[in-house]
Amino acid sequence: MAADSSPVDPNLCPLCGQSNACANEEERRTGVMQPPCWCASVDFSADLLAHVPAQAQRAACICARCAAGEAAAP
Ligand SMILES: [Zn+2]
Repeated sequence: MAADSSPVDPNLCPLCGQSNACANEEERRTGVMQPPCWCASVDFSADLLAHVPAQAQRAACICARCAAGEAAAP
């Protein structure tokens, strides 16, 4: 699995590894303007962010499921 030197995929949720469907990243990838990302209107709890690996913080978005606390623990 991911070593700590592996690059972070900005399209994948660092918590569950699923697509985070981030509009900002979609816009960067496709060059097509996207509506403001859902994540801009969500408060990510400090507790949730504490689970994000250091190298993924500010690099990859948490997905909507994890932000809502609905993802099953591994
Ligand atoms: Zn997730």
